[in-house]
Amino acid sequence: MHSLDEFATAKLTELESNQLRRSLVDSTRVGGIWVERDGKRLLSFSCNDYLNLSQHPAVIEAAIAATRQHGVGSGASRLVTGNYPLLGELEARLAALKGTEAACVFGSGYLANAGIIPVLAGRGDLVLIDELAHACLFAGTQLTRGASHIFRHNDVAHVEELLTAHRANYKRVLIVTDGVFSMDGDLAPVAELADLARRHDAWLMTDDAHGLGVIGGGRGSSFAGGDRADVPLQMGTLSKAVGGYGGYLCASRPVVELMRNRARTFVYSTALPPASAAAALAALDLITGDPALVARPLAKARAFTRALNLPDAQSPIVPVIVGDASAALDASALLQDEGFLVVPIRPPTVPAGTARLRFAFTAGHPDEAIERIAALVREQVMAESR
Ligand SMILES: *Cc1c(COP(=O)(O)O)cnc(C)c1O
Repeated sequence: MHSLDEFATAKLTELESNQLRRSLVDSTRVGGIWVERDGKRLLSFSCNDYLNLSQHPAVIEAAIAATRQHGVGSGASRLVTGNYPLLGELEARLAALKGTEAACVFGSGYLANAGIIPVLAGRGDLVLIDELAHACLFAGTQLTRGASHIFRHNDVAHVEELLTAHRANYKRVLIVTDGVFSMDGDLAPVAELADLARRHDAWLMTDDAHGLGVIGGGRGSSFAGGDRADVPLQMGTLSKAVGGYGGYLCASRPVVELMRNRARTFVYSTALPPASAAAALAALDLITGDPALVARPLAKARAFTRALNLPDAQSPIVPVIVGDASAALDASALLQDEGFLVVPIRPPTVPAGTARLRFAFTAGHPDEAIERIAALVREQVMAESR
């Protein structure tokens, strides 16, 4: 065997023996909440399409119209000839929603984080990052080639301790966290972190991938407490509640202008396809125009946590932790037999020993289905893992 294939095969065998090998399953989404797999229709609790906007007629029509007008691709990076006018319109809308001076759209959320963080921190600087932050925030942090410390999840006192001990040794300090944690569904203490950052001359960046459209009246985790928390760097994605694809940073005008000049994933990557920008604009119309729709995913998640006597959901994401990877696989298979798709989440996506079922609730999930799956989880999954 070629040494390359030997290498790949050995790696896969190792994953397999730890029950961590993953594989792709053809999944056809139907009508927002259903997924067809192997000819079987399952009610999905594993889509981040919280408002079901990926399938909304107005959003689809906007994408088609933009494709007819501008074509399927943007043809170049934005600094060359890829800057079709919908992108500026989208940035103005995002900035207005988040209450910032400006915004900068990237190709995806992952690309945004990989681009933004190394612009703001380099050698001689420090990044403080929550231990449960999303993988692409860690990827961006590594690209800085500067120092980093991981702080205990949502532990403001630990951040303060690190700032007190280390702030003076670095020129610039960036504090990085998810606004809504993608695998746990809890919110970051954004207002406290903002206050701490201000006092220590550090810069706070939140990743609001799971906040926009569902938390804080749809404006995201910086608005969860009612007032706007002072977060100078609000990053997010257009691929979850917004239903399409793309990433963004909402920030001050100089910061956004710097990104357009220096963020490598902005400068050296082709602009978002026109259909994605148009779809996001249409989706933002629906998000800002329909507070009842925006409130629904969290209300559905709370119905589920109440039925299971779990602490009240803080977001549409609710984890049910079962422990090891094989228990998560078994629990998922059991629910699949009952017609529900709840994909098991295993290490390295989550820490070892915390494999889980991750439930994502959307506006369109029927209440009876939530009651039924809660009963199954209570009787078959939680009883087993006790
Ligand atoms: C999904 C996600 C991303 C990545 O966004 P994409 O647009 O899918 O690349 C970044 N951060 C968090 C917290 C996420 O959940």
